[in-house]
Amino acid sequence: GIVVVGSINVDLSAHVLRHPLPGETVHGTGGHMLPGGKGANQAVAAARLGGSVTMVGAVGTDASADIALSCLRESGVDLTHVARVDGPTGLAVVTVDQQGENSIVVISGANSTVDAHRVNDAAEVIRGAAVVVCQGEIPAEGVETLPGLATGRFLHNPAPVLDLDREALLASDPLVVNEHEAALVLEQLDSRLPAAADPEELVALLRATGIPSVVLTLGAKGSLVSDDDGTHKVPAAPVHAVDTTGAGDGFIGALAVGLARGERLCDAACTASRVGAFAATGIGAQPSYPSVTDNLPQLGG
Ligand code: ADP
Repeated sequence: GIVVVGSINVDLSAHVLRHPLPGETVHGTGGHMLPGGKGANQAVAAARLGGSVTMVGAVGTDASADIALSCLRESGVDLTHVARVDGPTGLAVVTVDQQGENSIVVISGANSTVDAHRVNDAAEVIRGAAVVVCQGEIPAEGVETLPGLATGRFLHNPAPVLDLDREALLASDPLVVNEHEAALVLEQLDSRLPAAADPEELVALLRATGIPSVVLTLGAKGSLVSDDDGTHKVPAAPVHAVDTTGAGDGFIGALAVGLARGERLCDAACTASRVGAFAATGIGAQPSYPSVTDNLPQLGG
């Protein structure tokens, strides 16, 4: 199965004509409260696609905990290893203006308790997983505990990029990053980064550090996939994007499902690309993920 160790949030979004200045009140034109958090998003995406998924994380004792867990529950994710801790559930407060520009405040809340201790509490299920997935919305020590426990693949999506020890970065198999994150990871590994590195160079530099496999996502331009089978370009599926929130997380959830089934990274990334595109055609993150019965868009050339 798949174990996702990561964040569980509520996203509180408000649509505004323009962002308020400090001290100012503006009228919103609409809004919503939806379950979010990169960890939960990726877990829901994987479960919708038929993956057997266990979530390791924490929510608070407030009312928003139930909203945060709603899609995870509906999609059949095992929540045995999600702790309820005193204090608030992780919360992202988002304003989106007419141009689609976001301003975001994230309060990590209960996610900040997903430390080495909590990860070790789930050691047995982590050891037994075919794929262990994590991101950067929990404490660094939580992430750093995983390579020592995982016996399956360690799918590491350092978003945001934390200050991690080398071992945690070098154990990533695959490391899944966008261009911005790739540059930060290379910096952490003291790799000499050329001023204007193109995607191929970023992937080659990451592989040269010893990371066994890398997926560099490029939004509507697709992704680059590199492992011992070589480096391949995976095209995006051309779609009319409505809201790309959570497209990257949908991509990663699908990638985990393919890898858990023993697919080659390149093949898993092709399906993941179609899932990421599907997610870009729906509003929000978790509500936009396909289920096994949905028709996925075809890859472009
Ligand atoms: P992130 O949001 O983490 O930076 P990306 O935007 O690169 O991640 O998206 C991850 C993957 O999702 C891409 O590699 C691509 O396959 C797919 N994707 C994202 N945005 C689109 C889009 N507008 N059209 C088609 N596919 C997309």
